[in-house]
Amino acid sequence: MMQLFIPLNFLGFVYREIRGALANIERMFDILDKQPKVVDIDDAIQQSPELGTIKFENVSFQYDERQILHDISFEVPLGKKVAVVGDSGAGKSTLIKLLFRFYDVNKGCISINGTDIRHFTQQALRQAIAIVPQDTVLFNDTLYENIRYGRPSATQAEIEHAASMAHLSDFIASLPKQWQTKVGERGLKLSGGEKQRVSIARAILKSAPFLVFDEATSSLDSRSEQAILTALKDAAKGHTSLVVAHRLSTIIDADIIIVLSKGRVIEVGNHNDLINGAGLYAHLWHIQNERAY
Ligand code: ADP
Ligand code: MG
Repeated sequence: MMQLFIPLNFLGFVYREIRGALANIERMFDILDKQPKVVDIDDAIQQSPELGTIKFENVSFQYDERQILHDISFEVPLGKKVAVVGDSGAGKSTLIKLLFRFYDVNKGCISINGTDIRHFTQQALRQAIAIVPQDTVLFNDTLYENIRYGRPSATQAEIEHAASMAHLSDFIASLPKQWQTKVGERGLKLSGGEKQRVSIARAILKSAPFLVFDEATSSLDSRSEQAILTALKDAAKGHTSLVVAHRLSTIIDADIIIVLSKGRVIEVGNHNDLINGAGLYAHLWHIQNERAY
């Protein structure tokens, strides 16, 4: 009995230590991704970029020998929402990792408001971007703490506001322990949609000028999907946002849609332009609608 008790207790200790060591959600992402060697240049800009424009110019990238992104160019204009769609493995999440500088591009340039992102400190860059990752990492702690993680200095009122913007208030109110509900190991006690909304609440709480959303692939029931859609729409107001989407219904309202295939941009346009074409977007749209009805 004693033998079992000690390791479990020790694991609890390790968990608390790791949690304590994580200054913010991005570092978590960072550690999970186990990537090394992005370094700040000497005299890097410490001031976070303000609300503005993100630009990818002729970006190419490879993790190892295989080239993943080929000569990618597009712009996310100030205050607009740009969506990236494409098959699994097309390189969508990689684009986001590059924007966050988990890796540096091999060729080309990513800039924010005209400044190459390599010229900012990693901290200044990451402070400006709120990210809802594809796989949300939740801690076995209360809902309250899991949301507060988006900005540990936030007040209770700010945390509650973020939850309400993420359309979580009704859900939280319906739970016997409400805000004090533990989410379980890795958030197992929450559905995929609820987890994603916790992640959106965190991003809203961070209140950064740029919002990046990497949609989870797991299927959601249409009610959760609708809740996420509205949450996302509310969260995007007043931000420059980049959204990776699997369900095309998420991005009908996007200002610009980028269709990625095997690491190349093959179509660009808004929803109406693209469904009237005979390209990959129109094809995906028809498949998804056939499945839905
Ligand atoms: P998407 O998000 O469009 O599904 P990703 O950007 O995650 O695609 O991945 C694009 C390609 O890069 C895939 O073939 C994937 O296997 C590869 N890849 C992703 N991450 C890594 C990594 N850390 N090391 C090596 N290859 C990777
Ligand atoms: Mg992905």
